[in-house]
Amino acid sequence: MRILFLGPPAAGKGTQAKMLQERTNVSLLVMGDILREAIQKQDEAGKELEKYVKQGVLVPDPLVIQIIMHRLELTEKSSPGFLLDGFPRTIQQAQALEKAMQEKNWRLDYVIYYKLEDALAIERIAGRRVCKKCNSIYHIKYNPPKQENICDSCNGELFQRSDDKEDVMKTRLSAYYEKTMPLLSYYKGKGILIEINANNTIEKVSEETLKYLKIF
Ligand code: AMP
Repeated sequence: MRILFLGPPAAGKGTQAKMLQERTNVSLLVMGDILREAIQKQDEAGKELEKYVKQGVLVPDPLVIQIIMHRLELTEKSSPGFLLDGFPRTIQQAQALEKAMQEKNWRLDYVIYYKLEDALAIERIAGRRVCKKCNSIYHIKYNPPKQENICDSCNGELFQRSDDKEDVMKTRLSAYYEKTMPLLSYYKGKGILIEINANNTIEKVSEETLKYLKIF
């Protein structure tokens, strides 16, 4: 199974990706997590990436394409198939992925688009909290941890991503509308786009995701 997840920040892609990984064992590659791990190293490459992520603008295409292609090759070597969350985010990235997949004879099965209303995106981003240790995602109102600020899965400490704060969040949303929205017609044209209403609860969205992917 080879799938892409599309949608605005806080549409619930990360939560659904984790659910699907647990259900199917598919290899999960989350572009934002990969970039944040690289940034944590604080070497030259990490510092370069940080400049973009901090501001909420997209990292230049050649950089992200190089990073993800390397990870995809490693992933496919250990077990075929992947679920990509957060890549591609521009037409140029989509074309690079398509070319690489054609060369390797990997077929893209589905692109799932989690559609979310603007007002909800803003509310969800503002209340999102992430585990420092395992990257599990919570929301202070809609999906709170059992114990305040502590991850249910690993007891790690929860924090608010600095790019989830209001000013940066707005830049991220405009990058999404300008650069990523065009991917919807790109994949619609290929007949592999599935649209899911992400305004619903996590449980309902999971149910729809599994139904469309025919996982029972
Ligand atoms: P996310 O965790 O998916 O919201 O991503 C956090 C940040 O990482 C984004 O605001 C971008 O700065 C950067 N980023 C993630 N994925 C990509 C991508 N495919 N292309 C360019 N930049 C990206």
